[in-house]
Amino acid sequence: MQFPAIQEGDSQYLIHSYARFPAALVKGKNATAWDADGKRYIDFTAGIGVNSLGYSDPQWVQAVSGQAAQIQHLSNLYYSPVTIRAAELLCHAAGMECVFFGNSGAEANECAIKVARKYGTDKYGDQHCQIVTLNNSFHGRTVTTLAATGQPGFHQHFLPFTGGFVYADANMKSVGKTVTENTCAVLVELVQGEGGVVPLDKDFVQQLAQFCEKKDILLMVDEVQTGIGRTGSFFCYQQYGIHPDVVSAAKGLGGGLPVGACLVDRRCADVLGPGDHGSTFGGNPVVCAGVAAVVSRVEKQPFLLEVQKKGAYLRSRLQKMDNIQSVRGLGMMLGAKPVKGQPGAIAAACVQAGLLVLTAKDVLRFLPPLTITKEELDEGLAILEKVLQQQ
Ligand SMILES: *Cc1c(COP(=O)(O)O)cnc(C)c1O
Repeated sequence: MQFPAIQEGDSQYLIHSYARFPAALVKGKNATAWDADGKRYIDFTAGIGVNSLGYSDPQWVQAVSGQAAQIQHLSNLYYSPVTIRAAELLCHAAGMECVFFGNSGAEANECAIKVARKYGTDKYGDQHCQIVTLNNSFHGRTVTTLAATGQPGFHQHFLPFTGGFVYADANMKSVGKTVTENTCAVLVELVQGEGGVVPLDKDFVQQLAQFCEKKDILLMVDEVQTGIGRTGSFFCYQQYGIHPDVVSAAKGLGGGLPVGACLVDRRCADVLGPGDHGSTFGGNPVVCAGVAAVVSRVEKQPFLLEVQKKGAYLRSRLQKMDNIQSVRGLGMMLGAKPVKGQPGAIAAACVQAGLLVLTAKDVLRFLPPLTITKEELDEGLAILEKVLQQQ
């Protein structure tokens, strides 16, 4: 099919909720993709941090297709060994007690919110249901996770929202003023991804952890974007020196399959009982075969060391570019502020020139597959440099 016909079909049959770049990707290998016309692209996006092992990694393909041929779905009424294996690998890598599987980041956060409210209200009564999130955060697109998202731009339509969310700035003074006797949890991203790749200050995060511990407030970390090796440790909290009570993960977890996970530590392991939560597709065997393939590779120290090295290389190359003003982020989750030009227009020019990049607020955002090669990085950086010079 030719591109104009593809574009027409998209416009006719899909709800117009997305603005897309003019490329129809049909094939990929690691961090290289091809469109319907055979044009080649270097991929610095990994499908928004999803394809941890790149496009169609052979081991991952084998695990997923093998499971599809064996048994694809059985509902949560029966035991699923492959789901248990994925859960065990994930809990070990995270140092957490147990996990609930859903299908997306927003759902993982919905589960975290339910855990927090049940924990708080079981222990301290019905009023104890308030959750503090941070300004400039992003937690998802469901009505409740939009309410959790601390950005007025996301609070425009779809009212009324779920109540009980209050927003603080990323410092202890503001958190201290926002917490009340009815606060059951604080939910934070350690690097605010959609907010512009903004890492939280380490001292603040450690003080927040102590504060929460003292007040019996759950510390919940949204690792939907930062998790699964993205920042150079398996979870980002592992390099912040804290141990949260609840962690959500999603994007990079299934290597390209839809999955969300809400991990809980001992304190919350028994908060949800039979009937309190559920998901028809949650823990699906095909998806969990993908999760196991990803986690068993990414949790290994040599793999994470490679991510750190490639992240440091990407950062230093970006910092050296004349047309980049500053670089922020951790590991292979980086944001670069251009000297000239709007990120959106630069990203469009990059696509035209054969490089896929993301944007977030005032930065170009880079979330390449964790398996990207040095050659692919160099090729993409050369395209970027040329595009930036033309701004
Ligand atoms: C992407 C993202 C979400 C939402 O995930 P979906 O899978 O789109 O529901 C939530 N939190 C953070 C930090 C994210 O980056």
